[in-house]
Amino acid sequence: MAIETPVDGLVSPYDLSSDDGYVWLKGNLHSHTTNSDGKPAPQERLDGYVEHGYDFLCLSDHYKITRTDTVSCPDNFVLIQGAELHPANPFGGQVHHFVALNIHQDMDSQRLPPQLVIDAVRDQGGSIWLAHPHWSSVNILRDTRPLRGLSVIEVFNTTCRRMGRGESSVHWDDWMSMEDKIYPALANDDSHALDSARHDTYQGWTMVRVAERTSAAVVEALATGASYGTTGPQIIDIQLRLSDQSTDKSRVVEATVVSSEAQRVCAVCDAYGTEYHEHGKSFETATFPIRANARWARFEVIAPDGTKAWSNPFDLTDL
Ligand SMILES: [Zn+2]
Ligand SMILES: [Zn+2]
Repeated sequence: MAIETPVDGLVSPYDLSSDDGYVWLKGNLHSHTTNSDGKPAPQERLDGYVEHGYDFLCLSDHYKITRTDTVSCPDNFVLIQGAELHPANPFGGQVHHFVALNIHQDMDSQRLPPQLVIDAVRDQGGSIWLAHPHWSSVNILRDTRPLRGLSVIEVFNTTCRRMGRGESSVHWDDWMSMEDKIYPALANDDSHALDSARHDTYQGWTMVRVAERTSAAVVEALATGASYGTTGPQIIDIQLRLSDQSTDKSRVVEATVVSSEAQRVCAVCDAYGTEYHEHGKSFETATFPIRANARWARFEVIAPDGTKAWSNPFDLTDL
């Protein structure tokens, strides 16, 4: 049985060539302003990310769209219009936090069931992501399994890390295992404070591989997996091949991960246990086998300073 991938499958950013005009862009899809509970005005929030070398940003205020035409944005900067929407959770858990990207019509998300909010975002051509489920105590089996159409998950959130529940990678893995499907993830700041507070800005971001600097291109690259999330390390290349250790009963895939300076690289997969590469001193290229018969794997790169990057998952069944 082939793994069931989302409609068009996931795209490896490492299959997209600079010869075809593809470049990496750095961005944050989750931030707040004085239009909801953020401290800086929309223009100040945008200026901060521009000054820190970002290429794209979403001012994702709670409930209501912060219009991109209400701020002045440099020509080569991609400002994605969106909002954080909060439908009730009819399945027993806490209220949902969904980050909706590339939308133009407001909706009364608090009064709508979550599936209608997802459908409305998609009808507008947007994509919609489950934000910080670990912090929200959202349980994937109970609270998101009935839903269809989420692009999927925010694996890292700087604000939630400050409060002790920043990483949602187990939720991500559970979701993929439960549905036998691979899904992409985002890493975001969810910035509320002023830059000067140094609480929740410029610490978690997502890199996308695109050929155009437009909202539509960035949002499509995110939804199709041509991206990775990070709090520091760069993931430069990931290549996978069937290993010659493979037998008729045991299919082994070998991975090569090229990154900025790493202390450890882990291959998280749907099979029992995990494999990792570590050898006492830092390195930039890791080649190692993934657990036998794994159907998908994703990679985590941990730098010597403890910062971390998360690749999107790869389908290993069609190698
Ligand atoms: Zn939230
Ligand atoms: Zn938020």
